[in-house]
Amino acid sequence: MQNIEVKKGICRICGCTMDNPCYNPKAGFCWWTDDKETLCSHCDGILKDDSATVHRVNDIPGWEPDGE
Ligand SMILES: [Zn+2]
Ligand SMILES: [Zn+2]
Repeated sequence: MQNIEVKKGICRICGCTMDNPCYNPKAGFCWWTDDKETLCSHCDGILKDDSATVHRVNDIPGWEPDGE
């Protein structure tokens, strides 16, 4: 029996944290959509289907928010 470990403060879909969040030019950085802090806004609802959404921005070398 294996449990997939779900940790508070880590998105269970993309693995983002508040130190390494997701970003969408329209919505900004991700936020938690559940009380347990295991699902972020950018892995839920319309943002997950938006091609402009990037996950875990700190994993992307040289990433910067676009648009001023
Ligand atoms: Zn996520
Ligand atoms: Zn996220």
